Amino acid sequence: LTSKLPNVGTTIFTVMSKLATETGAINLSQGFPGFDCSPELVSLVEKYLRAGFNQYAPMTGVPALREALAQKTFAEYNVAYDPESEVTVTSGATEAIFAAVTAVVRPGDEVIVLEPAYDSYVPAIELNGGIPIYVTLTPSGVDSPSVDSPSVASSGRSVGAVDSSDYAIDWQQVSEKITEKTRLILVNTPHNPTGYVWTADDLNQLADLIRDRNIWIVSDEVYEHILFDGRKHHSLMTHPELQERTFIIGSFGKTFHITGWKIGYCLAPKELSVEFRKVHQYLTFSTVTPIQYALADYLQEPAHYRQLPDFYQRKRDLFLAGLQGSRFTLKPAEGSFFQTVSYAAITDEPDYDLAIRLTKEIGVASIPVSVFYNQKNDYKLLRFCFAKDDAVLQQAAERLRQL
Ligand code: PMP
Ligand code: GLN
Repeated sequence: LTSKLPNVGTTIFTVMSKLATETGAINLSQGFPGFDCSPELVSLVEKYLRAGFNQYAPMTGVPALREALAQKTFAEYNVAYDPESEVTVTSGATEAIFAAVTAVVRPGDEVIVLEPAYDSYVPAIELNGGIPIYVTLTPSGVDSPSVDSPSVASSGRSVGAVDSSDYAIDWQQVSEKITEKTRLILVNTPHNPTGYVWTADDLNQLADLIRDRNIWIVSDEVYEHILFDGRKHHSLMTHPELQERTFIIGSFGKTFHITGWKIGYCLAPKELSVEFRKVHQYLTFSTVTPIQYALADYLQEPAHYRQLPDFYQRKRDLFLAGLQGSRFTLKPAEGSFFQTVSYAAITDEPDYDLAIRLTKEIGVASIPVSVFYNQKNDYKLLRFCFAKDDAVLQQAAERLRQL
């Protein structure tokens, strides 16, 4: 069999989580909460399981959940999506990303990928015969000889050599990569792994670039509720010109600490949703029924997601305070539950080797950031997931301080 994805192996998330389990290391690699979801949500699922909501859900999602999503979206972003024709429930954001890319990309189409990029984007493009066109976001300062340490104030303000705003999008570069063949641009805000959060200006720049062109957008906004230091999420739906062209992708996994339930959604104008649903219909057909009913109820209380910035900012700051006095340098993440750190002042090792060595030797697993790039690079960055119990974060930081 000739592989359709010759460059794809087992994902780094699986590799590092497995190694963490085998070695008994603290697992700050794969992104998932180290604590449980709310017992109230579990009770709701149990209620619907016992009440016999155990057969196929409607293909597009149960009406109550689509309705709740449309209401929540209007309340948060003042944008109306029709629950009947513009909201689709999926088996995680991963499925939604794949379905959206598949709905749009034909063989030979070019797709702009801003890298570092989440690992599922490029295989989705390639399986559809698309050609990924990379715009590289470089963490400037990483190679700077003057890497200071310690670099983090417990207030969470930036002093480090690596600045997540360094990943700011180079719109000139994006513009140069757009051709007649460009069909899609993949966006991710808040960004995994850099924590970069798009600004209102980013939305305007993107709108200027795609105006009068036949280009669609997939906007991966799974960390929409996890932003820090008072930042606001600039969803692409809030820009009317972008809204018309965009598949907005969300995931309950991140918002309600239920990554194992694999449930997400796509919000898109009717014309796009029609095509999206054609793919979803034959990819999974529908998504787990009792969980959809439970989430429809749970979404009625906005506090369930509005508490997330404070909740995760505390954890970010706890982890950063723990790293104070270490030789790692960093800029506090603006959003997501990942903190990227530079180890340039500690060792010259490639990041992959270091991530493996730290897991085995000091018992802390992380993700080497180079894996999020198509182009080979030597940025000397590791990504740590801080969605963990406080004691775990403190213990991990204590081990890392010793380096
Ligand atoms: N996009 C990004 C940026 C992610 O980090 C993740 C998973 N952590 C996903 C998509 C996939 O989400 P899901 O688990 O809902 O498929
Ligand atoms: N999104 C998670 C991360 O970035 C991993 C999800 C997965 O394992 N596929 O760590």
